[in-house]
Amino acid sequence: KKLLEVRNLHAKVEDKEILRCLNLTVNEGEVHAIMGPNGSGKSTMSGVLAGNPAYTVTEGEAYLHGVNLLELSPEDRSHEGLFLSFQYPVEIPGVSMVNFMRAAVNAKRKYLNDAPLSASDFLKMMRQKRAIVELDNKLASRSVNEGFSGGEKKRNEIFQMAVLEPRLAILDETDSGLDIDALRIVAGGVNKLKTDKNATIVITHYQRLLDYIKPDFVHILYKGRIVKTGGPELALELEEKGYDWIKEENDI
Ligand code: ADP
Ligand code: MG
Ligand code: MG
Repeated sequence: KKLLEVRNLHAKVEDKEILRCLNLTVNEGEVHAIMGPNGSGKSTMSGVLAGNPAYTVTEGEAYLHGVNLLELSPEDRSHEGLFLSFQYPVEIPGVSMVNFMRAAVNAKRKYLNDAPLSASDFLKMMRQKRAIVELDNKLASRSVNEGFSGGEKKRNEIFQMAVLEPRLAILDETDSGLDIDALRIVAGGVNKLKTDKNATIVITHYQRLLDYIKPDFVHILYKGRIVKTGGPELALELEEKGYDWIKEENDI
């Protein structure tokens, strides 16, 4: 069943067109990898889908399980089940992870007309989810991302993802700055959270993450559109040959 449908999406930032006719369909249960040279528009795509106000959509459509994303506030997109992990996670001094996550969970429940979780149910859920990403209890009680190492921030994001149970998670270069152990834990968390109802889009520069998170499809984004789609072998081909051949094929 169709989960995300992006059709003919065009978007600009400060009068510069970045996305030019982006088309992408993601079905329930699928993992898609998006690769492409720096500056192709990968982060712009994530930002546009998440509702980052830096980008202006000039044309096209984006639906999440049939809901028009482009009409929703960033918060409501998240409540509808979209999760975006950032390339550079923000620090929120003075707000503990526990309180941050509790506010997020209850905001989503309110949107869905569910009663807030009791304190004990919430803490029980936190414990279960922490186990998935092997996140230390001490980290969970510290301020959001404050003084976290690169690996801890990424692990923390996967923890947030586990708690929010998104339908579609977009991981934007979640692997950058991770050592091999952190990479395994992050990838392991993503794999454990996989169901036949949700889907993941992994944006990455490196094939190595795809050794751990097996994609069903690999797309190459170049100059604001998807110029090639294949299976996992496409990522291996890129690793071997780089992007020059993609540029040659598309720069006419
Ligand atoms: P990628 O993630 O594929 O490396 P980006 O989406 O980050 O590419 O960037 C695509 C292009 O849009 C780049 O030329 C970048 O400089 C530009 N761009 C992205 N975000 C902004 C912004 N907030 N302000 C100005 N230019 C931006
Ligand atoms: Mg980049
Ligand atoms: Mg980027």
